[in-house]
Amino acid sequence: MIRVGVAGAAGRMGATVCEAVEGADDMELTGRADPALGVELTEILADCDVVVDFTTPETALENALACVRAGVHAVVGTTGWDPAPLRSETGANVFVAPNFAIGAVLMMRFAAEASKYMAKAEIIELHHDRKVDAPSGTAARTAELMDGEIPIHSVRLPGLVAHQEVILGDVGQTLTIRHDSTDRTSFMPGVLLAIRRVGELPESPVIGLEHLL
Ligand code: NAP
Repeated sequence: MIRVGVAGAAGRMGATVCEAVEGADDMELTGRADPALGVELTEILADCDVVVDFTTPETALENALACVRAGVHAVVGTTGWDPAPLRSETGANVFVAPNFAIGAVLMMRFAAEASKYMAKAEIIELHHDRKVDAPSGTAARTAELMDGEIPIHSVRLPGLVAHQEVILGDVGQTLTIRHDSTDRTSFMPGVLLAIRRVGELPESPVIGLEHLL
């Protein structure tokens, strides 16, 4: 059994991760950390093999460092922070993914490929209006993987979950690649896969679900 703790357990993603872990035969939910629950991450680390972090851009690095220094592997879904300082840390592994949905990973791969052949491209990312960072981590990562300078437009509206369109243009034609997460459960197979695999990564940090597929 993998003992799993969740940081941000009272949040939208964290609560969904808690349910997914409880439903997995090979995992045990051993801790929920969140200011709303009055529990700090440091209080649950001793009971965890892996911590999943869906918190805020301000706390993600600090949480990942606390995990690694305690010998606990970390799976981080929080976006809008720089994992570079983790490169000099040893003791446990960190896996980071800006998007855990398989469809979004495929969208990024197809967009990168298409950008080699079409003149220009722009990204429109659309999320719920409580999202704190813009542009989204997925849009930033997509632009990084594509050829050329790619402008990103961010839309924040109630009713949305997580959506992205990559529009490529060339002479007399456009190509649109679109992905929609209509429910947060879309991220859970990817999160569970990362929990199972984070302990055996060849290096740390590893960024992007494509490395586990
Ligand atoms: P949310 O509902 O605001 O949840 C974040 C939770 O983390 C809140 O309950 C927050 O508490 C808590 N928190 C803050 N600091 C903490 C700390 N030091 N330790 C433990 N918990 C802490 O946000 P969300 O919609 O779940 O999104 C969370 C993150 O996941 C965002 O960065 C979002 O972009 C990202 N995301 C990633 C993916 C992916 O596939 N990688 C998919 C969806 C979302 P307070 O409210 O009291 O601060």
